[in-house]
Amino acid sequence: MPDAKAYQGGCHCGRVRYEAISDLAQVVDCNCSICVKRGAMWAFVNAPQFKLVQGDDALTDYQFGKKKIHHLFCQSCGVGSFSRGLAPNGDETFAINVSCLDDVDLAALKLMPFDGKNM
Ligand SMILES: [Zn+2]
Repeated sequence: MPDAKAYQGGCHCGRVRYEAISDLAQVVDCNCSICVKRGAMWAFVNAPQFKLVQGDDALTDYQFGKKKIHHLFCQSCGVGSFSRGLAPNGDETFAINVSCLDDVDLAALKLMPFDGKNM
């Protein structure tokens, strides 16, 4: 298992940039309605492991269904590089779109199917 390290990531145009600490050992491939359309793969980190470096003013919030998750995206380029919500225990959790991280070999990731469609 790779060691946890600080990854830099962000949207396409560069307005939104963040840093997330993860080992990318558990990357979730979710089949819910929005993840399927976006083709997103997620790594979950707790609030202390996430830092929004820039772009708070560029983020637009999208919510649907139970409105538990904030599907944030950049209003300039439309890329949703991370989402925000509460874990079952109430802790603030960030879902990192691993496709938006710099220098990650996506083909090397081990994906974990998640049945979000039936949640
Ligand atoms: Zn952007």
